[in-house]
Amino acid sequence: MIYDLLIKGGTLVDPAQKVHAAKDVAFAHGVVAAVGDDLSGADAHEVLDAGGCLVTPGMIDLHVHVFYGVSHFGVEPDPTCLARGATTVVDAGSAGADTFPGFRKFVIEVSATRILAQLNISSQGMLTREIGEFEIPEYADVSKACQMIEQHRDIILGVKVRLTRNSIVSERSGMLPLHRAREAADAAGLPIMVHPQSAWCDSLDDILKVMRGGDILTHCFHGAACGIMDEQGRIRRSVREAMDRGVVFDVGHGAGSFHWGVVEGAMAQGVQPQTISSDLHVYNLHGPVYDLATVVTKFLHLGMPLDEAMAKVTSVPAQVIGMEGKIGTLAVGAWGDAVVFELRDGAFRLADAHGVVRIGKQKLVPVTVVRGGRVYRQGREN
Ligand SMILES: [Zn+2]
Repeated sequence: MIYDLLIKGGTLVDPAQKVHAAKDVAFAHGVVAAVGDDLSGADAHEVLDAGGCLVTPGMIDLHVHVFYGVSHFGVEPDPTCLARGATTVVDAGSAGADTFPGFRKFVIEVSATRILAQLNISSQGMLTREIGEFEIPEYADVSKACQMIEQHRDIILGVKVRLTRNSIVSERSGMLPLHRAREAADAAGLPIMVHPQSAWCDSLDDILKVMRGGDILTHCFHGAACGIMDEQGRIRRSVREAMDRGVVFDVGHGAGSFHWGVVEGAMAQGVQPQTISSDLHVYNLHGPVYDLATVVTKFLHLGMPLDEAMAKVTSVPAQVIGMEGKIGTLAVGAWGDAVVFELRDGAFRLADAHGVVRIGKQKLVPVTVVRGGRVYRQGREN
């Protein structure tokens, strides 16, 4: 058999298969065709030497904003996600029921990045800075959301709600959007994804009360009101209970939602995020997020083992969205998405969302990206 692509000489890190070893990976017809200790004798149209590098499944970013040209948060997905190793992304509520068909037709269907979505319970989605998505409570429209989900079930994974009490989210709708999101998600049989910073409630307890196994709490390490810790810096009991019942705690770094003190305090108390996501958007693309690999790099600095950190951007998010076996792994038969990384040593400035800098000793840099069994981008960008 002649493979389309052979990646040889690298160290395969594939947590779904519990593999961390020197392995060659071959692709044919868009999928992983072979994984072996030495495939160098095989015929392939293209051979990539990954000597000295890590080879991983394409990363999955559960929180990005890629409704470019319509949502004020939107970045173009291919240069910012796919080219940097996030082969599958989930847009977290940039579009609502009134704007989703355009998001699908003009962004999702024409991008090389595989894009799935959480539908905002606000029918307008995240359109402008001037009018908050819940400026009027009527934007939180359950029946419109349900109709849109039925038309796009193949790519809508759940219902997103943001609860911040400010002018770009909600000055007057209170906690109503949370309950509307729950209602729409329940009617559709899907989970909710919640952004909780500075919400209209006393504490995160009030939000977690509404959340069940399979729901996603994003921005879990933010430093604002409604965080995962109490006044003494202890992890709230409601957080441990929510984790026990299967609520997914997701990083969603963003421009205001990753606080070194909170994440260090949480990890010291044994609390880890289940998934690592970027919340990549216009206001953090040029720092402090840059890309998903940089967020993973921050967890390496925090002492998380590489294989565990990689699992949180590959096998675990694949499970969360019900696509395990297809994406998030390089097992034979999986879709052919892969990343070749350099793990560089040095001294790297890692800023949180508040400008506090830690110096990391390692940095994960994507050098080659494979999508559907073909090289999408090759070469060192930075
Ligand atoms: Zn977001």
